Amino acid sequence: MDEIDIEECRLTRYPAPVLGKPAQPIETIDDNIRRLAERMIEIMIASGGVGLAGPQAGVNLQIFVVSPDGTRESAKVYINPEIEVSGGLDAHDEGCLSLPGLFARIRRHRRCTVTATDLEGRRFSETGEGLLARAFQHEYDHLQGRMIKDRMTRVQQIAARRRLKELEERHKADR
Ligand SMILES: [Zn+2]
Repeated sequence: MDEIDIEECRLTRYPAPVLGKPAQPIETIDDNIRRLAERMIEIMIASGGVGLAGPQAGVNLQIFVVSPDGTRESAKVYINPEIEVSGGLDAHDEGCLSLPGLFARIRRHRRCTVTATDLEGRRFSETGEGLLARAFQHEYDHLQGRMIKDRMTRVQQIAARRRLKELEERHKADR
């Protein structure tokens, strides 16, 4: 695995290509990955988010961080995660740091068990309900190259069109 330049890790926004493709599994958990996790937590907290996935830091790897209350102390790291959803579906307003200014009611399962590897290389499972379950599903989606815009209903997508266009124009201007 190539060394990741941590200094280059920044919050990526739609339509950055890295957000649209499946992330690769992490083979070795070394200091580089530990620094990446630390940097991702920094970006998440500085942006006022409760979760951040590798592609959102510009890294095409299967890692996400979640902090249900948005604090450093509650932040946890999930590497090569698998999820299992259960319970009924709930619709709730959801936003995404990589889609600023876009919010939509997204249907998610009420419960979600994530099985992942931690920074010491240990596999663990954790079950979340409500907002935590929602965060797991949202971040897991990012690792499949899926974002809330892809989960919207047809009507929601039409309503979001102008905002997506603005983000596309801004992306072009930034390059
Ligand atoms: Zn997101």
